[in-house]
Amino acid sequence: MRILISGASVAGPVLAYWLNRYGFRPTVIERAPTLRKTGGHAVDLFRPSLRIVERMGLLHTIADNEVGTERVTFLMEGASPIRLDHHSALGVTNGRHVEIMRDDLSEIFFDATRDDIEYVFDDSITSVDDGQDEVRVTFGHGSPRSFDLVIGADGLHSNVRGLAFGEEHHFSHHLGGYVAVATVPDHLGLSAEMITMADPGRMLAMYSPRQMDEARVIFMFRTPGRLDYHHRDTTRQKELLREHFGGTGWEAPRLLAELDRAPAFYFDEITQLRLDNWSRGRVSLVGDAAYCPGPAVGASTSMAVIGAYVLAGELAAASGDHTAAFPAYEREMAGYVRKARAYAVRMVKQVIPGTRAQVWAGAQALRLIGALPAQMGRALSKRINSTGVHEDVEVKNYPDSLQD
Ligand SMILES: Cc1cc2nc3c(=O)[nH]c(=O)nc-3n(C[C@H](O)[C@H](O)[C@H](O)COP(=O)(O)OP(=O)(O)OC[C@H]3O[C@@H](n4cnc5c(N)ncnc54)[C@H](O)[C@@H]3O)c2cc1C
Repeated sequence: MRILISGASVAGPVLAYWLNRYGFRPTVIERAPTLRKTGGHAVDLFRPSLRIVERMGLLHTIADNEVGTERVTFLMEGASPIRLDHHSALGVTNGRHVEIMRDDLSEIFFDATRDDIEYVFDDSITSVDDGQDEVRVTFGHGSPRSFDLVIGADGLHSNVRGLAFGEEHHFSHHLGGYVAVATVPDHLGLSAEMITMADPGRMLAMYSPRQMDEARVIFMFRTPGRLDYHHRDTTRQKELLREHFGGTGWEAPRLLAELDRAPAFYFDEITQLRLDNWSRGRVSLVGDAAYCPGPAVGASTSMAVIGAYVLAGELAAASGDHTAAFPAYEREMAGYVRKARAYAVRMVKQVIPGTRAQVWAGAQALRLIGALPAQMGRALSKRINSTGVHEDVEVKNYPDSLQD
């Protein structure tokens, strides 16, 4: 059975891996000319997704590529610096968590699948014609081809979703903020430490991955409504950052000045996708394309890995019958997606406190977490951060291969 997957980041290659293992014939098409190595940001894999990558034989490779954050220092207006170990800051209670750069993770998944799976780079789907028995697909560059199923694993602004479900604005909800990431020199020498600074309506964080010389800076800020800018107009986006972070202390002036020299820059609205279901006929969606709870606030990389594994598992269980597999996949993921959406809404408010009182309350909570014995502190942090949504999700166990 021929299955076309759009997107070679996290969900796409994981789905391709498991489909191949179950005897399907996946092809992955990626818009970028090569595997992205443009910068990216740190992402999280919690215990349930680590179990899946362990079954893929990739746990050690992934652990070897950890970002290496050991401590988080919080700078908050009117409070002295608060230092927590990384798991206490995040609310990880079982010790099983890996933070890794998204581009490194994609590369690991790509390397694990490249010999068995057809990858087509530098191309994009232009139409999907869902017929009775197959889907006729046209591409920007390649010749038209037919597939039994088409899966969009092409991220928050999914092309496949646009073609099969309609325009993004029907499903996307503004969560009240914006996020930017830039690559900057590590002038603070931040080995193993992330520093975050919050004052009302804005948050700034800086870290330097263990395997890189440079650092990443994340800017997040709140707005009452949507801002006016074009998604390709990086000059305007940098201007918006300067407007919103003007007058911010700590390293903000220097980091804002670095923006014009930054080799990699990303800016987006923090939006949440709310689709009631994510399959139409022979077309389905996985990962951020289907259920992005919000970039940078949803810990959605674990969800992309789990969703890909569940979709492949349900297709195998239904012997490729998508009319049974797609609804089963949606049923399996629905509860997790619902909780992840609520988690992201809370995270926006927590990560970017809106008022001085919220900044103060956040500082008190962090201080209390730091004052408790480690395991109790992590448990409290888990409660406050709702990390259990990702740490404790139950994932159905699918066989390793069809023979099992
Ligand atoms: C700033 C930021 C910070 C984040 N921080 C965290 C975090 O701390 N923890 C965490 O767990 N997650 C985090 N995330 C979320 C995480 O990056 C995503 O959940 C994860 O990458 C989703 O994987 P995906 O494969 O579904 O989609 P993506 O990683 O978005 O990949 C989509 C792929 O599709 C490709 N593509 C796009 N359009 C087309 C097309 N037309 N044709 C073919 N290919 C196409 C893209 O090039 C890309 O390779 C963050 C996201 C952002 C933006």
